[in-house]
Amino acid sequence: MSARLRILLPFLLLTAIVLPAAAWAAPTIVNAAADPALVKPGDTVKFSCTITDTENLVARVTGTIREVSYMSAPFTRGEGGVWSFALPVPNGAPAGTYHIDLRLLAADGKIVKPAAGPESIEVKIAGEEAQVEAAPAAPDPAPDLLALEVKGDAGTFMLYSPYRRYSGWYKGQLHCHTVNSDGKCTPAQLEAKYRAIGCDWIAITDHETVTADPRAEGGQDVGAFITALEHGTPEGHANLIGVKAKIGGNCQQAINQTVAQGGLFMLNHPDWVACYDLREMERLSGYQLIEIMNGGCLGDGQQDGTRAWDFILGKGKRVWGVATDDFHGGPDAEVGKGLVVVNAPELTAEAIFASLKNGNFYATQGPQMALSLDDGVLSVTSPGNVSIFFRGPHGLAYQVDEREPGADPARYVFKGDEGYVRVEVYNKETGKRAWSQPIFVEKK
Ligand SMILES: [Zn+2]
Ligand SMILES: [Zn+2]
Repeated sequence: MSARLRILLPFLLLTAIVLPAAAWAAPTIVNAAADPALVKPGDTVKFSCTITDTENLVARVTGTIREVSYMSAPFTRGEGGVWSFALPVPNGAPAGTYHIDLRLLAADGKIVKPAAGPESIEVKIAGEEAQVEAAPAAPDPAPDLLALEVKGDAGTFMLYSPYRRYSGWYKGQLHCHTVNSDGKCTPAQLEAKYRAIGCDWIAITDHETVTADPRAEGGQDVGAFITALEHGTPEGHANLIGVKAKIGGNCQQAINQTVAQGGLFMLNHPDWVACYDLREMERLSGYQLIEIMNGGCLGDGQQDGTRAWDFILGKGKRVWGVATDDFHGGPDAEVGKGLVVVNAPELTAEAIFASLKNGNFYATQGPQMALSLDDGVLSVTSPGNVSIFFRGPHGLAYQVDEREPGADPARYVFKGDEGYVRVEVYNKETGKRAWSQPIFVEKK
């Protein structure tokens, strides 16, 4: 026996005693399979697995289709620890390899981590594989901004601001689902709910389907309706705002098609399920919007996409931040956790769309904000007891001002080397936030 082994032996023995005892309690998954493993659209496939669970920790098992991440289904418990569910493969489902990710849950809803066994089941859909070609990069968005020359102490510089002063401010929703995908309201019910909280316009974003304007079928008048859909790409989910027909493909292909249809491409919930890799967000080009706050993520304690937003702004992309509900609920569920307030000359879908494209709006969980930019000074007010943050690259706060109701506006004097400055309002009474779009700063 070598000297090293002699030293190690007590540890090895200890490990051998301790490990099986620790592993004994956690369940293991065996015989995870799809039957048949190769299917065609119209077939029914049965997914099953056997879970050895001596402690009876597992109360539920769900399967989420990784490639269609909003689709998940409960498994049914059978004899001898066998769990299964049957899925009819939808007609038109694209060919390819799919994975059903297994999730074991305890009675209290907590995830039970299996000690061993596969955590997903693979199934292949036969047919011609959709061609995923490398798509050419679309030009980055070139919004129409106000160009203002400022003579500062350290020289002359330019400000590029999305904020024009139109007469109307119109509140609306950019992310919500109906029974046409995985939501629980009809389009007309959804429209009535947003009307009831004072929204002037909505875009309904069902998964992979364009929902028609419910006003045509007697829905309540929300003022303006923008057609849209949510598309699941291998890179992440995206809302395609203003498109009239279904769009597919990977993220860059979908951006290119959206831009060609005159739509706006929005990266959804960058910090949540089906999230984007920062490197992908840098590589992709031509998208105009990013979700910095999503009401669905809020339920999971994740709400802040500003880290990803500051990252891409730092890469020189002129992308606007939006707050949304990602609403899936029924007629009694609450809406309005995240909204955008658009400045536009009139309440029409075209005018709202143009201001969304050019960044003339702010995102909010409730707080209002008023901005004005004069001679290199940005003035901001928001009702209530608020903190007003002026943030630059990496989200760094250049200045923070506390304001009480009726106080003078918070003022920020541009220096000329910031890169960009955006405003964040935090209401100390409600704990809610609002976010302006960035004002870009360039040396002349
Ligand atoms: Zn999504
Ligand atoms: Zn969604």
